[in-house]
Amino acid sequence: MSVTEAPPRRRSSRPSRRSASSSTFLQGKAITPGMALGPAGRVEELPLPDITERYSAIGPEAENVRLDEAIARAFHQIEKMRDRLVGLPEEGRAEIASLLTVYERMLGPSRLVRQVRERIAGEGLCAEAAVSDVTEELAAQVSRMAEAVARENSAQDADANLRLAGEFEEVGRRLMRNLTGISYRAFSSLPPGSVLVAEQLRPADVAMIDPARIAAVVTQGGGGADHTAILLRALDIPAILAVPNLMAQVQEGEMLVVDGHLGTVTLSPNDTELRLAAEAAQREVREKRAFGRLKRLPAQLQSGEDIELAANLELPAEMPMLLRNGAKGIGLLRSEFLFGEREDLPDEDGQTDAYRAIVQAMDGRPVTIRVLDWGGEKGRACMRRLGLAEQVADGGNPALGLRGVRLLLRVPDVLETQFAAILRAAEPEAGVAIGPVRILLPMVTSADEIVAAREIYDRVVRRLRRKGHTLPDPLPPLGIMIETPAAALTVDTLARHADFMALGTNDLTMYTLAVDRSDSMVADRYSPLHPGVLRLIEAAADSALKARRPISVCGEMASDPRVVALLIGLGLRSFSMNSASLPRVKRLIRTLTLEGCDQLRRQVMLESDPAVIQDLVRQFAT
Ligand code: PEP
Ligand code: MG
Repeated sequence: MSVTEAPPRRRSSRPSRRSASSSTFLQGKAITPGMALGPAGRVEELPLPDITERYSAIGPEAENVRLDEAIARAFHQIEKMRDRLVGLPEEGRAEIASLLTVYERMLGPSRLVRQVRERIAGEGLCAEAAVSDVTEELAAQVSRMAEAVARENSAQDADANLRLAGEFEEVGRRLMRNLTGISYRAFSSLPPGSVLVAEQLRPADVAMIDPARIAAVVTQGGGGADHTAILLRALDIPAILAVPNLMAQVQEGEMLVVDGHLGTVTLSPNDTELRLAAEAAQREVREKRAFGRLKRLPAQLQSGEDIELAANLELPAEMPMLLRNGAKGIGLLRSEFLFGEREDLPDEDGQTDAYRAIVQAMDGRPVTIRVLDWGGEKGRACMRRLGLAEQVADGGNPALGLRGVRLLLRVPDVLETQFAAILRAAEPEAGVAIGPVRILLPMVTSADEIVAAREIYDRVVRRLRRKGHTLPDPLPPLGIMIETPAAALTVDTLARHADFMALGTNDLTMYTLAVDRSDSMVADRYSPLHPGVLRLIEAAADSALKARRPISVCGEMASDPRVVALLIGLGLRSFSMNSASLPRVKRLIRTLTLEGCDQLRRQVMLESDPAVIQDLVRQFAT
């Protein structure tokens, strides 16, 4: 939610090249914010040849040798991509590295390779036909799963499955190119400062881009949640995907202005448009530098009170941005990323390594790890894939079913493994403490859930100690998400069992207003500034203060500077937000006084209409 951002100036879903006075613009999906300008560098790909002869003329043994060679070449190509990672900005490295690991896994002794060999041996296919058939089938299988999941309204899972389908296709294409000798397109020939224009850009292509030479990326295909988009964001390259009819409209070398905030591409801009775009791009460079200075300054109100600003982390690739933007800790590590896009549950060692890497990178700043929050709109396809199908609601309303801690208590071994991994990640190193680490339980509605989770936690602690692990002393505190009206209204009693609280205002808004957060039909009714939500937040903050339990806000509300001012007025002092928003929140906080925030609260709490509240907040401190 944002009450401060201006609505997009122009929007068009039509595949248009439209004349607006003297220039023309196209509309696509804004992926990475940022202004850029430069000549168009079109990158096209030689098509793969059709397979005219599906059956092998040389026999299965020789086909397997060809397949082995193609696989070996693919490993070598991936190795070369890995070597290039050192030259990339830190932001993109982890994200690309993990993608390359997925490709390597698929090229290893995987289902994909096994099935290709079976087709070669059993059906007498040539290697190309077997690779093409198997990768198409696997991709279609997971795409079908994505469609089923999307029908169930779980956009996050549908996206994960679509990414997996894309990975199968990419590995298939790579093997086909290696088998047929059709080379890949080269990005290195683009003149420096070009805007890369392509029909499709695959994640592996992004790994080959040099962000220092490319001003922006614009593509005809793609979407907001695919790997390509994630990587472009991680590399901070201004980018727009899904521009209808792009390739038919952009000429090689034509000047382009790319507005990654609005998702618009201006073709052959006039002088005024060029000047304005250049000024905006320079302003952004200056703003980024100013944010760099802001990083060293405390998040403190003019009236002297310290405010804690931490970041939410969804993917390890966000770590560098989180550190660059001066987060004082991770207030919410959504551990779901470890569980998606795989065929089994991550084991204790694997999870330990992943958490420990993050804890170490935070270098003494607190890390709050939320245990798996599946159920509701999250994780439904993954739950099926990992054999938890019986836990998925059969009919009924998944948002009100087995979700968060409720689900974990039904599959205690999953929770045990995660507790153990988090505890081990927080183990002192050569007697020196690392961390601090905190553990967060999602979707708690009553005390018995905390008691049951704590019993499991204590059992895991005893097991690890018996095995000789030196656990941190004191142990990582066990906190709870306040995401339901029931929890918000009973913070006083929950506080007897929970060490700290985090207000998850995304779900709190959904459950308070009975408005599904992912249903576009009711998106206009989803308002965290509804007085009902605000009163619950105020009640929760008051009770936590009385019970002397730390409380923070980690929902999207905390990403909006003026809403944070209101939340300070409501008694909150600790916030965790997406790291991109952190500098703007800090910049405003440093101009505010507690009295000013309290005055805003007094005004707001008299109102009953969310739209009026929204206006009051938007006008505050402008
Ligand atoms: C929330 O509900 O506000 C929250 C932070 O959790 P998530 O968005 O991951 O459900
Ligand atoms: Mg939530």
